[in-house]
Amino acid sequence: MVVGAGPAGSYLAYSLAKLGYRVIVLEQRPKIGDAACCTGIVGKECFDRFPIANNAILTQASSAKFFSPSGKSLNLRKETVQAYVIDRAAFDGALARRAQEVGADYLLSARVDDIALADRCVRAEVEYGGRMTNFDAKVAVISSGFGVSLPKRLGLGKIGDFVLGAQAEVAATGVDEVEVYFGQSIAPGFFAWLVPTASGKALAGLLTRRSPGAYLKELLSRLFVEGKIASPEAESTYGIIPLKPLPKTYGERLVVVGDAAGHVKPTTGGGIYYGLLGADIAADTVHEALCADDLSAKRLARYEQGWKRILDRQLQIGYLARRLYEQLSDSQIEHIFELFHSDNVHEELLQSPDFSFDWHGDSVLRALGHKTLGRLLRR
Ligand SMILES: Cc1cc2nc3c(=O)[nH]c(=O)nc-3n(C[C@H](O)[C@H](O)[C@H](O)COP(=O)(O)OP(=O)(O)OC[C@H]3O[C@@H](n4cnc5c(N)ncnc54)[C@H](O)[C@@H]3O)c2cc1C
Repeated sequence: MVVGAGPAGSYLAYSLAKLGYRVIVLEQRPKIGDAACCTGIVGKECFDRFPIANNAILTQASSAKFFSPSGKSLNLRKETVQAYVIDRAAFDGALARRAQEVGADYLLSARVDDIALADRCVRAEVEYGGRMTNFDAKVAVISSGFGVSLPKRLGLGKIGDFVLGAQAEVAATGVDEVEVYFGQSIAPGFFAWLVPTASGKALAGLLTRRSPGAYLKELLSRLFVEGKIASPEAESTYGIIPLKPLPKTYGERLVVVGDAAGHVKPTTGGGIYYGLLGADIAADTVHEALCADDLSAKRLARYEQGWKRILDRQLQIGYLARRLYEQLSDSQIEHIFELFHSDNVHEELLQSPDFSFDWHGDSVLRALGHKTLGRLLRR
């Protein structure tokens, strides 16, 4: 039983259904992927490793322009494509169809209110078609995105830190590459963005710990005044991004994947790739546990050991970098931009073998070890 048809849940459903298991996916929304608040940027590594339908790709990016609080710009450019911008509704829809093609069943408008262990199964209480129904399964996968109620009720703890996201689709006028904006008045402690998607359209958004709606309104006015978007009015969507992993991501007959497990890059808030990587490991663990007819917490702990081997260091260093960045004043951020310009630090970091769109741990350590940049960040 998979709770939530986001990328992590549908990829896991596909992986298990393909092996011949009977899989049911319970999704609270009436349509898959439609309401996702997400910019849809995935790195090339994710694109190469996981199935991304061609019709879900809106555009590709090999460069990005970064703006300091005072508006100084810095262009980071690589020769090759670094990332793709995908249409989340199309991406989620394609992953779900793929899972259905190999036999997974999807039940939409089915909200899981509770999950509990029963006799040799796990039982979900589901609100479906205006009444409560029970579903039993050998094992449950929680892939319901950020949310405290299910994991907490299951004794898995709760995610210790998170950030709020706000975004709007806008008509863009003459923006042809990803733009990222820093500064206390724009997105305190985090950043804002303008990402071109299809011709003439872009996503404008930001991350912040407070008042996402007010900051988004301010961002749209600013972009409008600068002539980058056609109107300051746009419909906004909101989301919550975990910045730390869930304390425990498994239990008896239970695993937690994706945002629900806190598998998100704390530096940027990107969670699609890490969520898919975690789901892949979870699918292997569940398969082996089902083969061994042992769905005990002890057996499923292998999932947590597996994701920790590849993600934990990244999550920890990324979180430290994030907290460090949140302490910086606008003048310190300006100073970093100046250093990048005068000492070409960005070129050094970009050209270093550690540079990766998805794995930031080594780049963060390299930046901290950099003679001028490190001194400034440690002050
Ligand atoms: C503003 C913003 C921009 C972002 N931009 C990017 C980006 O550019 N790149 C990137 O990699 N990541 C980005 N992210 C993060 C990304 O959206 C998430 O990491 C990703 O969606 C997580 O996938 P998931 O499958 O774990 O969960 P989700 O996509 O959240 O899917 C969970 C599903 O579970 C369903 N559900 C929830 N509760 C229940 C229940 N009780 N019963 C049944 N169903 C339930 C939900 O309806 C939903 O469909 C962004 C996030 C925000 C907020």
